[in-house]
Amino acid sequence: MKDLTYFKELANLNGIAGHERQVRNYMKKELTKYSDEIIQDKLGGIFGIKRGEQGPTIMIAGHMDEVGAMVIGITETGFIKMLAIGGLNPEVFVSQNVQITVGNNKTITGVVGAIPPHMSRNSEKKELSFDNLLLDIGADSKEHAMAMGVKVGQQITPVNHYYVTEDGKKIVSKAWDDRVGCAMALEVMKEIAGMKHPNTVIAGGTVQEEVGLRGAKVASAMITPDLFLAVDVSPIGDFLPKNDINANGTLGGGFLIRYYDPRCIMNPKLLQYFEQLAQTNNIKYQHFKSTGGTDAAEAQYAGKGTLATTVGVPGRYIHSTATMIHVEDLKSVKDMLLAIIKDFDNQRLQELLAHE
Ligand SMILES: [Zn+2]
Repeated sequence: MKDLTYFKELANLNGIAGHERQVRNYMKKELTKYSDEIIQDKLGGIFGIKRGEQGPTIMIAGHMDEVGAMVIGITETGFIKMLAIGGLNPEVFVSQNVQITVGNNKTITGVVGAIPPHMSRNSEKKELSFDNLLLDIGADSKEHAMAMGVKVGQQITPVNHYYVTEDGKKIVSKAWDDRVGCAMALEVMKEIAGMKHPNTVIAGGTVQEEVGLRGAKVASAMITPDLFLAVDVSPIGDFLPKNDINANGTLGGGFLIRYYDPRCIMNPKLLQYFEQLAQTNNIKYQHFKSTGGTDAAEAQYAGKGTLATTVGVPGRYIHSTATMIHVEDLKSVKDMLLAIIKDFDNQRLQELLAHE
């Protein structure tokens, strides 16, 4: 993976659930270059179709939304009240510079104020909650904030500080969950543009994953694929003590075979197929058990039931303003997706589906 343009450009766009417009426009522009046709569901999910020789349909989906917040009010003194959209601990927003998207591409920057130790020294520690956080955009009054263009319902996202670490192998950014999946859908479509494959590939991005897999429900119902692959970042715990129950997954350890999460149990034949395919193609992988769900959980209900799983990307500190991923894991994910596309035909589908 030399050219990471898609990853960087997508991570820098802003889009919480229901506000994926910037990301969708980007996806549309790029998918158009490599697809036979573009399709959209009515919630805003977008996909490119690349028809193959015959055979089954593989759907590859990132989700375009990121965790963030929404403007829910302005105090008389000009501070912005916020609501978290998606699973976001309030402490990750404290003392962060964030942006309110007030127009199509216009943003206003502010800071989520932290209380100085001088003022909290003798007071009891209150549990932090989003209700108590105030976003300060430098407005002197409610009217002043409104004159700047602030309205309820607007999205709030972190100011991004995208950087590559000293060793050149890791990248830190906001929104890796799940612009990585969106970028991966584009990478795959670009790669297979001139290639023959025994299946039809439909790749792109769903909406509103972070608020309960809403976009995947309509997108998978629209497409009813034979194999659904969510490409999503999973929270690895390699920075935790070894005996911590969440200490599974390693950064740089290869893509994640998500054999279990509470909402999607990987078909054992599919699990075996993934292991063999990865081994045959020398692709680094690790088994992963998660406590959350991905779009695969929702897609498994499409039609009469759909083979669905996640090709996971290891990520440290997800759902924060700064998540770290590993460039070599990106290669493993892409290689695995391409290996599946080269191999997955009608016969393979029947083998995996057979329920004796
Ligand atoms: Zn995600």
